[in-house]
Amino acid sequence: MNAILHQTVTSRLRWTTRILMLLLAVASLLAMLHTTQPWPQLAAFAPAVATIVVLSTTTTALLLLLQFKIQKQFFLLPLAGAYAIYALAAITSLLSMHGSPDHANPMTSDTMSNWGAYWQFGFCGFIIIAMAFRKATESFPQLNRIILGKNTVPFMLTPLLGIIVYMLALNAGNLFSAIMSSSPIVTAPLGWGSWIMAAATFVLVRAFCSDDKLVTIFLSIAALSHLCHVSHLLIDNTPFSANWYMAHLLSLFSFTTLLAVLILQLSQFTRDLADSHAYLMEKAHKDSLTGIYNRGYFDETAELEWRRAQRNGTPISLLMLDIDHFKGYNDQFGHVKGDKCLKKIAQALHANMQRPGDFVARFGGEEFVVLLPATTAEGCHAMAQKLHLAVQKLKISAGDHRRVSVSIGHATWNGPYENGSINELLSQADLALYTAKRLGRNRIVRYEDLAHSLAWSKSLFPPGVMSPQ
Ligand code: GH3
Ligand code: MG
Ligand code: MG
Repeated sequence: MNAILHQTVTSRLRWTTRILMLLLAVASLLAMLHTTQPWPQLAAFAPAVATIVVLSTTTTALLLLLQFKIQKQFFLLPLAGAYAIYALAAITSLLSMHGSPDHANPMTSDTMSNWGAYWQFGFCGFIIIAMAFRKATESFPQLNRIILGKNTVPFMLTPLLGIIVYMLALNAGNLFSAIMSSSPIVTAPLGWGSWIMAAATFVLVRAFCSDDKLVTIFLSIAALSHLCHVSHLLIDNTPFSANWYMAHLLSLFSFTTLLAVLILQLSQFTRDLADSHAYLMEKAHKDSLTGIYNRGYFDETAELEWRRAQRNGTPISLLMLDIDHFKGYNDQFGHVKGDKCLKKIAQALHANMQRPGDFVARFGGEEFVVLLPATTAEGCHAMAQKLHLAVQKLKISAGDHRRVSVSIGHATWNGPYENGSINELLSQADLALYTAKRLGRNRIVRYEDLAHSLAWSKSLFPPGVMSPQ
């Protein structure tokens, strides 16, 4: 799989993201100018945003963990950790909303300052660690193998550590009891420390962005919107002001960009998988030299067609073709020319398949088999004549004014199907082919004629039964 996170972006996408980031910064600045301007009070706005953030950060963390399992890139772990921490913070934030507009935006109170600082620092800190690892593994690709060893599963539990530390911080800040007792949560501006951390994250992500990989490009958008989000909270956090709405919208932006890329990656992965499956199926069913179907495909399909014929009560016909004196041809002209001859004949046979169910397969060596579902003995014989003529028309020289020819034997089963099998039909066509060879090659023999003559005289080859074509 070509991992989309590691893809180099096109210059068009690079410029689009730069313009997007510029627009983001401008929109953020404009909103800051109207910091305290009151907007309509939408009580459900903050819970709705928090719900989306919970869902998107949880999904992002899970998808990053899965990516880690597939790609075995260590930097994806701290990245998953960053989103897991934010998911927990958003869940806590959602739980602490009491439904009244006054409590629509619970932020850190004095007692909860360590909790607020923890998730802000935790999110940014994990992203910085992820970027540092990514940079390091670029210079030393073997680092991933050294750190991870063979078993990556225990590493997937590392975000649990973040969850434990988070719970401890939550408890130390008495936030648990605040949530459980539904006591009002006093809002207070975030500290400058969080802003510095967000700014440092953005600068570092941009610094690592020089390689123009998709992951760094999208992380820089996320980091910028996060920085703007923290800036808005720092300036003023009055509920339902323009600034407050902007801060919420920015948090949405910062937590959904990476998710969008991961979903894109999943859809690309599914498409790649379907393409490679179709390619492998095609390869598994085709003969590499001649390009027509191979023996495996014949075995599978013939069995199915036999059962279909049985169900519908229709006849089923089969032709066996063998190139005459092909060993001599190889000896005289060499194997390379022999291969070319095989290819030409195979293509000529294939070009004469007209009905949807009809197909020719290479049975092995210089032998071919043609399956004709829902075809009578007469129809099959007409097809045999057509294929015989098609090979003659190729006019492949066999030396001494001779042309390469084929012998054909064919058989048709009209039922009862319980008494036979596709292998039985194959043996009948093979016997007819063997007879054609015995009679002098370059001719067609039908098994039905052979069977009649066998029944009539119990002699294998009575004169005048098998007419040369
Ligand atoms: P007959 O008329 O009785 O069929 O004689 P024949 O020489 O065609 O039959 P025989 O079974 O004695 O030899 C088959 C030859 O087909 C032997 C082998 O060199 C050739 N052959 C089989 N597969 C290939 C292939 O993939 N490429 C080439 N060049 N030759 C092949
Ligand atoms: Mg042969
Ligand atoms: Mg042969």
